[in-house]
Amino acid sequence: MKSKSKFAGMIMLLLMFALTACSGGNGPNDGAAPSNPDTSTPGNEASAGQDPKEPVTIEFMGHGNPNEKKIFEKLIASFEEKYPNVTVKYTSVPPGEYSQKMTTLISSGKVPDVFYVGGPEFYRFAEAGTLLNIQSYLDQTSLFNPDNVWKQAMDRYRFDGSKVGAGDLYGLPKDVGPWSFVYNKDLFDEAGVPYPSATAGDWTWDDMLEAAQKLTVDDNGDGKPDQYGVGAYSLESAVWGNGGEYIDYATGTVKVNEPEFYEAMQFVADLNLKHKVSPNQEAEQAMNAYTRFINGQLAMFAMGPWDQPAFWELPFGWDIAAWPASPNTGQTATWLGSMGFAVSAKSKHPQEAFDLAAFLSLDEQGQRENYQLGQAVPNLIDMAEGEFKEMDKGPQTRQVFLDIIQDYGRPDVVAFSKDTQWLDTFNQNASKVWNGEMSAKDFTAQIQPKMQELYDKGNK
Ligand code: CA
Repeated sequence: MKSKSKFAGMIMLLLMFALTACSGGNGPNDGAAPSNPDTSTPGNEASAGQDPKEPVTIEFMGHGNPNEKKIFEKLIASFEEKYPNVTVKYTSVPPGEYSQKMTTLISSGKVPDVFYVGGPEFYRFAEAGTLLNIQSYLDQTSLFNPDNVWKQAMDRYRFDGSKVGAGDLYGLPKDVGPWSFVYNKDLFDEAGVPYPSATAGDWTWDDMLEAAQKLTVDDNGDGKPDQYGVGAYSLESAVWGNGGEYIDYATGTVKVNEPEFYEAMQFVADLNLKHKVSPNQEAEQAMNAYTRFINGQLAMFAMGPWDQPAFWELPFGWDIAAWPASPNTGQTATWLGSMGFAVSAKSKHPQEAFDLAAFLSLDEQGQRENYQLGQAVPNLIDMAEGEFKEMDKGPQTRQVFLDIIQDYGRPDVVAFSKDTQWLDTFNQNASKVWNGEMSAKDFTAQIQPKMQELYDKGNK
């Protein structure tokens, strides 16, 4: 399978080099490109040797809510204006059905030219040869400057033949999602508690706990808080900040049974079990942390950039801060999600498909529209650090988003796994710790061998 897909990729590259009459490119076949007398005329590069007016239809499939669909319809209309010979057939699938739909299309050989791809799927598809190696397209494009795109986002879509994160590019980022710590300013003001710091390392777990205790209130004295200090605290943030790891991908060793991990997990569990500043499972089922925050009954919570439009409607003040640092290390961390655009290795119009992916990922006007609608942080660095940061809408401290992207955000745990059962098993059983049935130390000692077995089975 692997050598076959590599061979196909090589043919594709050779073909492209010939068609674009490239000399001195940076592709892996540098120097091997034959000079083809049938090459296209100069200045005809973008049409890959075809008549530029020949109509081309490319299929694009994504997922998302109706709002996202509307945005993409707009972006596609702008693309079609810029490339009058290209028609984009756009399908938006409900997020829950997307994965199954893609699997079906792949097995029936009907992969769309351009489509969304996330972490574990990116890995599987790249390895199976489903995705086009777009490195040489990127090296030759004049549509954007690759140095002006977050490296942290681009690297998610690299594949070196065996691992994700290095090698040639097989996708472009749709977005980066810095998972941020958000707080209700009004509740902090009412309780006379100073706001969390936006600077990483300033505010520790201890500071957070002290604030959460002051912000947990039982109004009617029935013993159940009507307002909580903190909810849905990120386990990844606690573990990574404490110097722990879920897994060492270099060796494939699951590390949840190490003290840095289970101490952090116990800290998160104790926010409820011991300190009662976070809703327990029963309270969470009655009203989830998101709704509680929206209702003004939760002081500290988490958000992604995509939550902005809903939060803009809130009747109270809010802002984002750095995730609290572990007092053991002084460090903080959080995850930086991402979704990407990939091009099918079987696309009959790879240049146009690449152009669409590049337009959706990196076109200046599209990126501007996207952030103004509160969908994402721009993929373009100069835009993110300029007009996006100056934007006159919450969160006020937008630098936190950028700090996460540049400094302490990390790919979600599954980003480098083909098969995620090892982590699914952990998450499905973690309630034993959250409800106090087991200590984090005992639980992780018990489940580590099972996780290791599943990881080895699905990923080695
Ligand atoms: Ca109460």
